[in-house]
Parts: sequence; structure tokens; C-alpha cells
Amino acid sequence: MRAADWDESYDVVVVGSGAGALTGAYAAAAAGLRTAVLEKTAVLGGTSAYSGSACWLPGTDVQRRAGVDDSADAARDYLRALLGEDTADRQEAFVATAAELVALLESDPAIEFGWQPFPDYFAAPGRVPGGRSFMPLDLPAEQLGERAALVRPPVERDRCGLGHPPGPLTGGRALIGRLLLACTGTGRCEIRTGTAVDRLVVEDGRVVGVRAGERRFAARRGVLLASGGYERNAALRDRHGVPGSAAWSMAPAETNSGEPLDAATAIGAATDLHGEAWWCPGLAQPDGGGAFTLGLRGGFIVDADGRRFANESLPYDRMGRALAAARLPAHLVFDARSRGRLPAIAIPDVPAEQHLAAGTWQRAESLTELAALIGVPADALSATAARFNAFAAEGVDHDFHRGEDEYDRFFAAGDGPNPCLVPVDRPPFYAARVVLGDLGTKGGLRTDTAGRVLREDGSAITGLYATGNTSASLTGAVYPGPGVPIGTAMVFGYRAARDMAGL
Ligand SMILES: Cc1cc2nc3c(=O)[nH]c(=O)nc-3n(C[C@H](O)[C@H](O)[C@H](O)COP(=O)(O)OP(=O)(O)OC[C@H]3O[C@@H](n4cnc5c(N)ncnc54)[C@H](O)[C@@H]3O)c2cc1C
Repeated sequence: MRAADWDESYDVVVVGSGAGALTGAYAAAAAGLRTAVLEKTAVLGGTSAYSGSACWLPGTDVQRRAGVDDSADAARDYLRALLGEDTADRQEAFVATAAELVALLESDPAIEFGWQPFPDYFAAPGRVPGGRSFMPLDLPAEQLGERAALVRPPVERDRCGLGHPPGPLTGGRALIGRLLLACTGTGRCEIRTGTAVDRLVVEDGRVVGVRAGERRFAARRGVLLASGGYERNAALRDRHGVPGSAAWSMAPAETNSGEPLDAATAIGAATDLHGEAWWCPGLAQPDGGGAFTLGLRGGFIVDADGRRFANESLPYDRMGRALAAARLPAHLVFDARSRGRLPAIAIPDVPAEQHLAAGTWQRAESLTELAALIGVPADALSATAARFNAFAAEGVDHDFHRGEDEYDRFFAAGDGPNPCLVPVDRPPFYAARVVLGDLGTKGGLRTDTAGRVLREDGSAITGLYATGNTSASLTGAVYPGPGVPIGTAMVFGYRAARDMAGL
């Protein structure tokens, strides 16, 4: 197309505005490239803004400042032990880049991180006791000024249309807010909300821009697709065999439906890992949605037969995989000890009365009655509770080893011999319905170590890059530790920007 045919012209166009997108945009703009961030919705941040903002970026200055004994070598060992050789080149690129990326980000006055304890998800060589992930420091809203309204509100308010809470931006909103500050501070990064990219413009085999409806954006150096997965698109989930449900996904409702992924496959991009997601137990919500559930402090989870099927304190992706294999429906069974509240963290947390009124929770004076209400065999549920309570008294879960790993114990609060095993024997009893939730799909465009999108034959499509859940994750069917989705999205957003800048 001639210059006059474009509505706007940039060096780099970034599609989406999560952590990977804004990291790529910042790195491109900091390298001197005119950059545009095109976001489909009215607010920035997508699922990244909802997140806890843990960043699994190993061996950086942040861990060093906190006195955490971490290194790129240890992270390499850990990833290799979990992921094997399949994605060895991207694993290597990832661990070799984390420290450099964090140094660049923290060289900007807008960005500062702090280590937080949060254990890695597997007992494997290279695991760091207490965990290696870190988070951005809270961001006073005044620092963003009017731009604070551009950051997506936290999930519990966003789902109810309640807008922004008072006080500083925390968690994922602090991450998005800080990256936004850094991006706009370069003077070379434009933000366009309400801009849904649906096509790629190709000339002579090279991606030279994008279209958002009738609007055309030129990208002289390249396009970075960082527009999430397709978790909110029921038809695409069906087509690619992703279990769970678009309604139970944690991505903001109107965000990630996969149009950029389809636009890339339409020009010959290869995909990988379809069917995979970052899984989690989802607490069924009165409105039909799901709430990310982690950190159980009591209770046990039963399948449709009234039997336990996993260590309920597993890291959420691993528990999600157990749920996917179980005979559903599943219920978290707990008792009066938690005073009518869920003995776990649910995001968002809806009051018990609403759950009981909607039937997503049941309450009964006996386990027999509870079994009838949730449709499981009463004798099986009673036997499960009796066996579990005996394990709690002894402090050993002979069936699923709950409480044996550092991660299991991280959230535990029981005062018995095993803090993860709290008896369930005080009426009234509760059963909360648990579904297979996700934090986003992780199958998507096949990419190389520079985030370049590849064709089936392994050649790169010139001018096209992808990161975050738009790309097939280097972690395959494994979620290694807290902050891996965001950490990997940031690294490959950065590496894509460096490639576009010729660095
Ligand atoms: C409660 C919660 C806590 C979590 N905590 C963590 C954590 O601590 N650490 C961690 O690593 N992960 C965490 N996750 C998972 C993580 O947030 C996501 O997997 C990750 O943020 C996805 O990043 P992304 O950039 O791929 O997509 P997103 O952050 O969802 O960003 C995609 C953006 O692209 C936009 N978009 C979509 N289509 C288009 C289009 N056609 N044109 C333009 N824009 C488009 C969307 O509107 C959206 O704003 C958490 C998730 C949840 C829900």
C-alpha cells in the first residue's frame, strides 16, 4: 500500500495491552522506534490487570536484593527437568534474557519490583525454597493521573461494573500502570483503545501492518501480537478441543476471542499446543461464571462418586488437570469451622448467601443430607469424610500426600499435626461446586527465540511476532511456578522488540 493509504504509520504495532504487550511496546519505544499499542476494549491490561502480577523472571537483581539464592543456571535446571528438550532453545533464551529485561525495566523511574515468597510448583532440581517470583510495588494512582482510568479495574469490581477502587494500584494493575507510565514516558508510544485488530496486511510476503475494521495501521518494522488466547471464544475452544468453558475462564469477558490468532493462521502461521490452558479450579459462580480458587485452608474435594481424587492443596494448574480427568461434578466439602466462608481464596469472592440462594453452594446438617443435595452416594461421602478425618488426626494423607510439599503448606492454617489436613466433622456441612477454570489458553502461534511467528516449514513470517497466550507456550503442558505466564510473555515481548529494532 502507498503511504497515503494508511490511517496511521508506526515502526512497531503491538496488538493487545497485557504485560507482554506493554513490555514489548516499552522496549521498542525505548530503542527509538515509534510504537502503537492497539487495544480492543476501552481499558488496558486484559487478564494481566486481573492477575496477582507475580513475575517468574529468574536470576535478576530483584532476587539478589532480597537475598534469594537464585540464578539463571538454577532456573535452567528447573525448566529442563520439567519440560525436557522440546523447547530447549526457547527455555535458554528465556533464562538468558530475564536479568537483562528486568535491568532495563528498573532503569526506568516508573518501574520497581520486590520479591514476595511464593513457592515454585514442583519439587524438581533448581527449585528455589520460598520461590523466586516477584511483583511490582504498589503504584499511587496520582502518579498515573488521568491515565489511571485507562487501567482495567480489579476483577471483583470489573465483573460488576463497579469501576476503580480508591487507593493505589496493586497487583496486576500496578504492573500495567507502571508499564503504561514507562511506555508513555518514552514520548514514542501511542495508546489506542477501542481498536480491535482483525487482519494482517501482507506485502511481498512480509507483514507490513494491521487492519482494525476499516482502519489501517502501518508497521514498518513489525507487528507484535500480544492479544491473549482464545479462552473467551466458545466456538474456537470447541474447534481446538479446549475443555472447560468460555464462561468459566478468568479472562475479562469481552477480551480474548482469538481474532489475531485467526488472522495469523490465515497468512500461513503454524500453531501448537491447542487444547492446553493455564488451568485452575473454578468456584462455580451464581452468574454462571467461575472464580479462580487456590490456597485451600480446609475441606476436601470430591468427584461425582463422592470420592477424593487428588491432593487438594496442589498448585492450581495441577489441581485443574486432576479436575479435567475426574468424574464431574466436583464439590469442595467443608464444615462450620470456616464460619460459613469458603476455606480457600476465591477470586472474586462472592458472599455465601448469594451462593446458597443460587444453588452453587449447598448446606446441610449432616453429610447424608448434603450428599443427597449434591447427588453423590451418601455412604461414599461419609466414608470419604471418615477416612479424611482419620488422616487429619494422624497428620498423614496416605491417599494423595497432601501437606508433604512446601507449596501445599504455603497457604495452610490448620493447627493439627498436618496443617493441610483439617477435619470435616462439625455441622453444618457445606458443598461448593467446583468447575474446571482457566487463566487463559496456552496453545497458539508457533514462535522462535526472537518471538518471530513461524510457518509449518519452520521459516519465519517476516514482520510478525507473538508473545503471551497468543503464542504456544514454551512450557507445554506444565505450569512451572507462579508468574510463568506473565514472565514468559514479558521476555518474548522484549525479545521481539529487540529483533524489530535490529538489536
Ligand atoms: C486472578 C488471576 C491471577 C493471576 N495471577 C497471575 C500471576 O500472578 N502471575 C502470572 O504470571 N500469571 C497470572 N495469571 C495469569 C495471567 O494473568 C495471564 O495468563 C496473562 O496475563 C495473559 O497475558 P496475555 O498478554 O497473553 O493476555 P492479556 O493480559 O489478557 O491481554 C490481552 C489483551 O489483548 C486484547 N485483545 C484481544 N483481542 C484483541 C484484538 N483483536 N485487537 C486488539 N486487542 C485485543 C484484550 O482485550 C486484552 O486486553 C493470573 C490470572 C488471573 C485471572
